[in-house]
Amino acid sequence: MQDFKDIGLSKPILRAIAAKGYAVPTSIQAKVIKPMLDGRDLLGISQTGTGKTAAFLLPTLHLLASSGKKALQREPRALILAPTRELAGQIDKSIGAYGRELPIRSMAAIGGVSIRPQMQTLKRGVHLLVATPGRLIDLLNQGSASLRSIQVFVLDEADRMLDMGFIHDVRKIAGHLPMERQTALFSATMPKAVRGLAGSLLSTPVQIEVSPPSTVVKKVMQKVLFVPQKEKAKLLIELLYDQKIKSALVFVRTKYTANRISEKIVKSGIRADAIHGNKSQNARQRALDKFQKGKLRVLVATDIASRGIDVKGVTHVINFDLPNEPESYVHRIGRTARAGNNGTAISFCQSNEIHHLKGIEKVIREPIPASSEHHYCGEKSPKSETRTMEFFETGNNKNKNTINRNKNYATKHRRHSRKRKPALTS
Ligand code: AMP
Repeated sequence: MQDFKDIGLSKPILRAIAAKGYAVPTSIQAKVIKPMLDGRDLLGISQTGTGKTAAFLLPTLHLLASSGKKALQREPRALILAPTRELAGQIDKSIGAYGRELPIRSMAAIGGVSIRPQMQTLKRGVHLLVATPGRLIDLLNQGSASLRSIQVFVLDEADRMLDMGFIHDVRKIAGHLPMERQTALFSATMPKAVRGLAGSLLSTPVQIEVSPPSTVVKKVMQKVLFVPQKEKAKLLIELLYDQKIKSALVFVRTKYTANRISEKIVKSGIRADAIHGNKSQNARQRALDKFQKGKLRVLVATDIASRGIDVKGVTHVINFDLPNEPESYVHRIGRTARAGNNGTAISFCQSNEIHHLKGIEKVIREPIPASSEHHYCGEKSPKSETRTMEFFETGNNKNKNTINRNKNYATKHRRHSRKRKPALTS
């Protein structure tokens, strides 16, 4: 295995890596750091949880520090664009750790907090700017930031950026960058739109791919529980009584559900909070910090928060609602089983969500084992073997064709999940 010392990183960075306790580079770090140090453009297909942040930050910090150039007023020399505030905040924190011995100044320009301190910090000058697209555009429009001195541009989670509707913002920002620069684009998936964006931003890039979704997913024990929508909250609380669930991230579809479910969990005596787009950035950060420190056992989140969360000890991800986009499933469950730990992902599935389940299984290229070891599967059935079927018969799905389609799917699903793997325990 390659050693960090052989890649060409400076001593202060090597000491910071050692202080973080990293013994050897992860696969993505082994592939990305050297070409970036050589000044190459890079197209990386990779998930979070693989060590991607350090993969692009270490060479960026090295290049900035070794150039010896001062920070210019309002003109950062490197830009990292991230889709969510949490992710941008996490990246900024990592810069603090990896660059702790370097004379490099950085800041995060994110929305949801006052713009004024960000304008003032930019005016004093930073080398490295981490930003979400909306806030960066505000700063550019106000003349508080200029991108004309950017030497290194990193676009992180490009697919997510496009999913969140930031394509025009990204293109606008790219229009402010100098032609002469180094660019790295990372994306978990490579749909056509991302390829198009990469084609316009990168010049003869080195292409690397690590941990396609299926391998990341394999580290996580997965199971699906069929449950009617109205029983999901009860099932969730029953599951949370299991003390094996030390730290759980619960994903829901809407902000309203996030609040409602978190309140129900709190009422049942379990420490929980919710984070979603309607909460102020400070409230989101506070909840995240408490969760990270173990003061909350459960954090209920919408997808907006699914990517920036890097909490080492998340033992369980619970999908209260299945995501509409299969890729989000991979991102959500990637919040557990991080940095070599084990993790469990439990997904609730009601009859209307079967097509989402199918989409997810197609993307991860394997069936998710179904478990019917809970009380809320079918209201009348005492036997676990027949619960799933009964759920689809007694559930709120009135359309006969859909019921039949779902019955067929459930039967097939149970058959192959039994064959391949036994139902998982949490
Ligand atoms: P990321 O994919 O950047 O979100 O990183 C996932 C986790 O892996 C973070 O908690 C990092 O601190 C950790 N990490 C990054 N690089 C290494 C490494 N070389 N060895 C061990 N852990 C690492």
